Amino acid sequence: MNPPRFAPDLSRRAALRLFERILAASGNEGAVSDARFLVPAILGLSPLDLAARGDVLVGAEGAAALDAAVARRLSGEPVARILGAWEFWGLPFRLSSETLVPRPDTETLVEAALAALPGRDGPPSRILDLGTGSGCLLVAILSEARGAFGIGLDRSEAALRTARENARLNGVEARAGFILGDWCASLRGPFDLIVSNPPYIASGVIPSLSPEVRLHDPMMALDGGIDGLDAYRRIIAEVMRGDLLREEGSLCFEVGHDQAESVRALGIGAGLEDAAIRYDLAGHARVVALRRSPAGGSRRKS
Ligand code: GLN
Repeated sequence: MNPPRFAPDLSRRAALRLFERILAASGNEGAVSDARFLVPAILGLSPLDLAARGDVLVGAEGAAALDAAVARRLSGEPVARILGAWEFWGLPFRLSSETLVPRPDTETLVEAALAALPGRDGPPSRILDLGTGSGCLLVAILSEARGAFGIGLDRSEAALRTARENARLNGVEARAGFILGDWCASLRGPFDLIVSNPPYIASGVIPSLSPEVRLHDPMMALDGGIDGLDAYRRIIAEVMRGDLLREEGSLCFEVGHDQAESVRALGIGAGLEDAAIRYDLAGHARVVALRRSPAGGSRRKS
C-alpha cells in the first residue's frame, strides 16, 4: 500500500494542484489535463463545481478516492479506464475491459458512414456494425440518422452488455439491436450500410504499442493477424458471399495508418467499387469506403 497522499482537510482546489504535481513529478507530460479530467469526476463534481466551490474540503472519502485514482494513473492505467467512460462524437460512452477506448480517429468513420447513407426520403436505413465493442460507432451514427435502425455484432458478451448500456445512455436503444456472433456467420441482410473498426494491428507490431494500449485495451480488438488484414479479408469475403449488403450499399472500414491501399485492393479484388478514402485529423488515410455495384458486384467493363 502506498502512503496516503491526499488529506481529508485539503480543499478541492488544493487537491487538484496536488494531483497535477504528483503526475508531473512522475514524468507524465499530460499531467495537467489528466488531473482536470480525473479530479472532478473522482469527486463526483462537474469541472464547473470544482472551480466555483474550490474551497470545500475533499473529506475522508474524497481523499481515499483521489489516492486510489492517482495510484492507478501512476501505474500507467489510461485516464479513460480509470473513469470507466469516455467521450466520442460528443456523446458519453461507458467502457469495460472488453471494449477499446473510443479514439478520435474513429470519428472519421462516422463521417464516412453518414455520407454513405441514402437520403431521408426512402425507407429507413439498416446499418450493421461488425465488432461493435462499446457500440460507439453504431450509437453515434444512429444519433445522427434519426430514422435508421442498426445491429451491432461482437464476439464478446461483455462488450455487448456495454454497447447496450451505451445505446440506452444515448437514447437510441429502440433502434439498436446487439447480437453475439463471429463476423457475419449468423447474419441475414440486406443492410444499406456496413461499418467496421476491426482489429488491424499486425501481430508483430503489438509488443511495440504504448503500454496504455498494449496492457489496457483488449487484445481481441487489436490483433489483426500476421499482416493486420485478417479481419478485412474475412469480412469482405463474407459480405460478398451472401446477401448482406444491398446493391449500391456501402461497406466502410477504419484502417491502420498504412493499410488504406491494401484494404481498397482487397475490396476491389472481391468485386466492390471504390467509393472514397477519408483522412483523420493527423492526415492519415483512416477510412476506406467501398460500394457494392448495382450488378451485385461484377460491373466490369468488357
Ligand atoms: N486505432 C487503434 C490503435 O492504434 C487500433 C484499433 C484497431 O485495431 N481497430 O490503438
